[in-house]
Amino acid sequence: MKKIFVLIFFALNACAPMQNQKPGLNVLAVESFLADIAQNVAGNRVAINVLLPIGVDPHGFEPTPSDLRRVADANVLIVNGAGFEDFLDDLLKNAGGKRVVIEASAGLTARNPRANESANQHAADPHFWFDPNHAIKYVENIREGLTRADPDGAAIYRANADAYSAQLRDLDAWIADQIKTIPPAQRQLVTDHDTFGYFADRYDFQIVGMIVPSVHTGATPSAQEMARVIERIKQTRARAIFLEAGANAQLAQQIAQESGARVITGLYTHSLTDARGNAPTYIEMMKFNTRLIVDALK
Ligand SMILES: [Zn+2]
Repeated sequence: MKKIFVLIFFALNACAPMQNQKPGLNVLAVESFLADIAQNVAGNRVAINVLLPIGVDPHGFEPTPSDLRRVADANVLIVNGAGFEDFLDDLLKNAGGKRVVIEASAGLTARNPRANESANQHAADPHFWFDPNHAIKYVENIREGLTRADPDGAAIYRANADAYSAQLRDLDAWIADQIKTIPPAQRQLVTDHDTFGYFADRYDFQIVGMIVPSVHTGATPSAQEMARVIERIKQTRARAIFLEAGANAQLAQQIAQESGARVITGLYTHSLTDARGNAPTYIEMMKFNTRLIVDALK
């Protein structure tokens, strides 16, 4: 009888809404995957809020007046950085006031995009989080930023960051193991836009091409760009074109028909899902994508 009581007690405890142990500290992360990483560092000391709704593309995001108010109310704002949040400079200027801005990717070296970016676009690739080792750097930057805003929590943030970084190292090893089941010659990616560069660098994939040759979304490929990616797929015999959840599959289908590759949809890249979806956490998102890629290519 006693045992049952204890079990119920723990179950209730796990479901209880998180208590913010540090009232007055209002932490806002721009993207859902950043909020999840930050929540792992914050533990139950601070509840992390998220600015962008689930499924919204950060590349094309346009803040509303209520977004502006949320940023104005935050005393810590966590951003990916490296040009990922185009709207950020205006948003911060309009929000006014002072806050700690944590740039999660600070200190990481950006790769040059494989896409042919025109000179007036941001050339650096901001999609660092596709390598879990970069996510460990995110954890470090978030820990430092939270500690700056809340020095009394330093020991808690450090312990949480260490524990979560260990999980990220396990994730990296798990992905590498899964990728080993794909014959090296078949480790080829065709993607929607230039998203998987850091993943490719880490796990030895060749980026064969992309539908929109840009580190941003929103552009439409020219006829020459379409012809180029079809030709590349034929030359390399890449098996699959990978699309993000919610992406328009029309161009991908056209490329698939002319090149012989299959279209695989449903990768989660710029947003998590809600708790019932396939990618409710950063770690689950990376595992889900890895399984999808491995199943299509092995
Ligand atoms: Zn992107």
